[in-house]
Amino acid sequence: MRKNITGNKIREEFIEFFKEKGHTFVPSSSLVPGGDQTLLFTNAGMVQFKDVFLGTDDRPYKRAVNSQKCMRVSGKHNDLDDVGRDDYHHTFFEMLGNWSFGDYYKKEAISWAWEILTEVWGLEKSKIWVTCFKDEKGEIPTDEEAAENWKKQPGIDFDHIVFFGREDNFWEMAETGPCGPSSEIHIDRGEEYCDKREDPGHNCHVNGDCHRFLELWNLVFIQYNRMGPNKLEQLPACHVDTGLGFERIVSVIQNVDSNYRTDLLMPLMDVVMDISGQTEEEREKHFTPYRVIADHCRAASFLIADGVVPGNVGRNYICRMIIRRAARFGSKIGLEDPFLGQIARKVIGLYGKAYPELKKNHKTIIDNLTREEKKFQSTVEGGLSILGTYINSMVESEKKVLRGDLAFDLYATHGLPLEITKDVLEENGFDVDQKSFYESMEKHRLSSGAGKEFGPLGGEDAEFYFGIASALIEEKLIKKDGITADPYSSLLISTEVVSLIKDVAQISSISEGDEAEIVTRDTNFYIESGGQVSDKGFIETENGENIFIVRDVRKPAPGIIVHIGEMKSGKLQVGQKVNVKVDKKRRQDIKRNHTATHLLQAELRKILGEHVRQAGSSVAPNRLRFDFTHPDPVTSNQLEEIEKQVNNAILGNSILIISHKKLDQALSEGATALFGEKYSEEVRTIAIGEGVPYSYELCGGTHVSETSEIGTFIITSEGSAAAGIRRIEAVTGRKAYEIIHKRLSNIKETANELECSIDDLHSSVNKLLTEKQGLLDQVAKLSKAQALNDYQKAKEEISYIREIPTLKMQFSDLSLNCMREIADEFRKDFSGGTAVLSNIVDNDKIQLIVAVSDELIKKGFHAGKIAKNIAKDIGGNGGGRPQLAQAGGKEIEKLDDVLNKLDKYIKKE
Ligand SMILES: [Zn+2]
Ligand SMILES: [Zn+2]
Repeated sequence: MRKNITGNKIREEFIEFFKEKGHTFVPSSSLVPGGDQTLLFTNAGMVQFKDVFLGTDDRPYKRAVNSQKCMRVSGKHNDLDDVGRDDYHHTFFEMLGNWSFGDYYKKEAISWAWEILTEVWGLEKSKIWVTCFKDEKGEIPTDEEAAENWKKQPGIDFDHIVFFGREDNFWEMAETGPCGPSSEIHIDRGEEYCDKREDPGHNCHVNGDCHRFLELWNLVFIQYNRMGPNKLEQLPACHVDTGLGFERIVSVIQNVDSNYRTDLLMPLMDVVMDISGQTEEEREKHFTPYRVIADHCRAASFLIADGVVPGNVGRNYICRMIIRRAARFGSKIGLEDPFLGQIARKVIGLYGKAYPELKKNHKTIIDNLTREEKKFQSTVEGGLSILGTYINSMVESEKKVLRGDLAFDLYATHGLPLEITKDVLEENGFDVDQKSFYESMEKHRLSSGAGKEFGPLGGEDAEFYFGIASALIEEKLIKKDGITADPYSSLLISTEVVSLIKDVAQISSISEGDEAEIVTRDTNFYIESGGQVSDKGFIETENGENIFIVRDVRKPAPGIIVHIGEMKSGKLQVGQKVNVKVDKKRRQDIKRNHTATHLLQAELRKILGEHVRQAGSSVAPNRLRFDFTHPDPVTSNQLEEIEKQVNNAILGNSILIISHKKLDQALSEGATALFGEKYSEEVRTIAIGEGVPYSYELCGGTHVSETSEIGTFIITSEGSAAAGIRRIEAVTGRKAYEIIHKRLSNIKETANELECSIDDLHSSVNKLLTEKQGLLDQVAKLSKAQALNDYQKAKEEISYIREIPTLKMQFSDLSLNCMREIADEFRKDFSGGTAVLSNIVDNDKIQLIVAVSDELIKKGFHAGKIAKNIAKDIGGNGGGRPQLAQAGGKEIEKLDDVLNKLDKYIKKE
């Protein structure tokens, strides 16, 4: 076994192995499943290929390989309770997989799995066990095909091919749909891994209940379509879907007894040990906190990199909960100051190459972790001491289970997630009533009027805003449904301050320098939605003396909209009359970009095809971004055509018609709706152009009144956003002018430097390039003449190694051809000699030529072997024919040493 191979290398070798077998590498999809509302997190490699198996999507490849980021922390696969307490469970983990979409089948899948496990990674064949499907009900045929293929693998023990029923070896996506038998690969880790040895009735076996046999890899063969409980149809094309647990295979190859002792997680625990100042013995004693911190911090870093920051609802809640749980386990080993940022740095270093999103979001990850840790520290003490009093009274009253409403109160007012309350209780031998916890939460949600918008979980901030909202609604200061002034028509409205908020408390006035939030009776500000960013602007008194700068707006609870910002001058108090002013220039920029996004979508469908579907968009003042489904990169010709046609549409000066109508009607008129988006009964539609509109979409955003307001439209980039999804970025109006101006100035300046007119620029540059090539040729000629001249001198002073004339020359930036020419000369001049020519290229790598003359070859010398041995000592590779060979290397500092000890290399093999 190759025990010293790193986890990163194992991942790389898996991908390379299948790439060599014709697979396309498909990057891991996000932990947030796109378009799949039924799933909180991506929990298996197949999530991003689900549509292909269902036949609703097509991919430009038939074979794929990937390493998928997965999270299992809620729902059916909830491992959280076990994470940290044993050596195998994780919240975040990686799944390696190879995929065939109607291409290869069992024969290839099985032999490749065997090959990489036993040949590439050197697993002992006698330790491998495999399982195949045999229906215990006798309804579905036994998978003899898989078993037969296993028998063909060199060195497999036939007794290790065993059959299991539906529970273990039949895979189904759902009640109906694609399904098929699976074949699992297990490894026997040896008797010492059995944790049930004390148990007299126990015997170890595959799919048993001890830790001796470890399931590594599941090969699923999708060959049926389930039409009903008792009806299977053969699929016209069979698929392969495999999943190899990455942490597990690394623990087996590195021969350690725990996933946490692999180099995927151990380095994180080393950092924890450094920060805590504990010794290795102490770490072994407190291994649970170490495991929890390493696991949770790795998971949180990956989540934040995928845009899931700590918060109160859904995925964001999970992110918050695991950070807080890690922080509390940290306090158990004496870590009081924020420490997760330091561990996250290690996570980014360790995983950043395979998952570049970590590097890209480096700062966001560290900032969010640290902020959340601080937030938790400021409330946790209060919460834990209250929990302590609950525990004391449970001891007194001899109760074992904490009431759910008390646990909910700990969360809602002290920020203690249920999971932490449960940890603390369990550590003291108690439990919590989870059912009544969720009932309390539901009751709270309904009484606060949160409704659907607020999601499944409440939180400390939200409760505060509900309080304000209900009071203001009661006093009829704001409207219950939250409908306020039309944000699309007027950029200035006169209204009244109804609430001022500072540091999560209502106050009666704010003055210069205060960071605060303002609620007004009405607002004309646009709040971020549908990809369009929020407005910015001002709230000021009529005389213009008291000015509040609005940086952001948000809706923290139904009915209430807060303007967030800073009091620039003067003061404001509750009840004061004010003007609410949207930043006009900025709003205009946003409008131009939003309308241009609609034109872009219309052109994409015309030019690329009707399959183009919006997959996300972002409309900001300085640019627009549009993601859409399309299998291939958009060619530069297509991009040019799209840009041209959008500009034509702008110049066509169509008017925009905005109407409100019933959803059914809009859809039947052909309006474009977002796939998977839920719309209300009545919708707003945007038509560009009268009669048959140029573009017709459901949209709530702000738009120009006539397309010519957009000015110019320029595409600034096109690239891949995810598998099968392309991204176009573009600019309009003022930003487009800025870019044109900048590019033109660059061109003008270049023309000035070349002393030609802009029109002659192209031919001037061409001329320069030709001249440059001429000079390069001349330099090459001169350096070659110089080198040959040097050779003539060197050969006069040739040295001998064991009586063999040995030429040693060093060059820099000489062409390989020229070196070969010298080698040929040498072989002619010395019939029984050898030459080692070295050349340093660009100051950072070494090229070597080794030549051996014919007579010496007859005596058993071989240039290829000499080159290979030298290469090893300069960090590279080498080889070639007996008479002439080449080598390369990176360790320039070792070159002198090697050249001084040529006698070590010039010898017979
Ligand atoms: Zn056992
Ligand atoms: Zn829109």
